[in-house]
Amino acid sequence: MLDIVKNEIAHSIPEAISLLNQNHGALVVAGGTDILVKIRAGKINKAHLVYINKISELKGISINESGVIKIGPLTTFRELENNPLILEILPILAIAAGSVGGPQIRAAGTIGGNICNGVTSADTSSSLLTLNARLEISNNNTTHDALIKDFYLGPSRVALPNGSLLTAIHIDKKDYTGYKGHYEKYSQRNAMDIATLGCAVQLKLNKEKTLIDDIRIAFGVAAPVPLRLSKAEDSLKGMTIDQALLKGPSIVRSEISPRDSWRASKDFRLHIAGEIFNKALKLAWKASFA
Ligand SMILES: Cc1cc2nc3c(=O)[nH]c(=O)nc-3n(C[C@H](O)[C@H](O)[C@H](O)COP(=O)(O)OP(=O)(O)OC[C@H]3O[C@@H](n4cnc5c(N)ncnc54)[C@H](O)[C@@H]3O)c2cc1C
Repeated sequence: MLDIVKNEIAHSIPEAISLLNQNHGALVVAGGTDILVKIRAGKINKAHLVYINKISELKGISINESGVIKIGPLTTFRELENNPLILEILPILAIAAGSVGGPQIRAAGTIGGNICNGVTSADTSSSLLTLNARLEISNNNTTHDALIKDFYLGPSRVALPNGSLLTAIHIDKKDYTGYKGHYEKYSQRNAMDIATLGCAVQLKLNKEKTLIDDIRIAFGVAAPVPLRLSKAEDSLKGMTIDQALLKGPSIVRSEISPRDSWRASKDFRLHIAGEIFNKALKLAWKASFA
């Protein structure tokens, strides 16, 4: 038996927010692939759950006239993997979504749950960091945007005040135009395994396509929260691809601080970081010529 004291289904954003605010400690359920596992494991007791998966405003992927892409937090990994707009404009996100778990998890798990659970291994988070994603947070009568880089406060801790909901993920046109990217995940198994380490790279070449004009790099499991490597980015700008492949691994290793865990040692993760960075960089560079 799961230790659940109340299940409530919200049909609109205001109803969900009202239920969360009336019941201090009530928890949001999207796809349930994290939270129900935690309840089953006894990590959450006497759970009061507010299901949001019937709220149509939280679903779907669209683009507006200014080129801003809006992703509903209830978008599943499978939808991200197969959505034509994502495949054309943000393929890095389709790659990241395609690397998650197995088919059942990709059918049920949502991008909103992946962001809000606050874990460093969340596969879509590092790609969203390289896209400077803006997170729309709604509470009683207020809605504000937070940059994803400011959202992660610590392991499993995010800047989501009690009673609030992630209601959209926005990517601005300037954050994808001219960039080609790749997400590389290293895990012990090819399927049904969370990342030992994950690396997202977004690359913009100069007009002649000879030098790195801009590069954005983010890692998962390289620190307590998903991490953007701004110093490495500054160092690699202006390099040729050969210089970046040669110097990049030691540059990225100097900015991350992975830990020892039963999955892998710190030293192994540091080694792998350079390898997967180079792989992601090469594939982003190749995509720039496609
Ligand atoms: C077998 C298995 C394999 C997995 N493999 C991977 C993997 O390879 N990579 C990976 O990244 N993850 C993996 N996961 C973890 C999980 O599937 C993902 O993190 C998924 O994205 C969670 O989404 P969800 O909709 O199921 O979240 P839920 O479990 O519904 O919610 C997760 C958390 O986010 C909160 N939340 C959800 N939506 C919102 C919202 N809109 N507003 C506010 N708070 C919200 C919930 O309250 C909860 O705290 C795996 C899980 C399992 C069980």
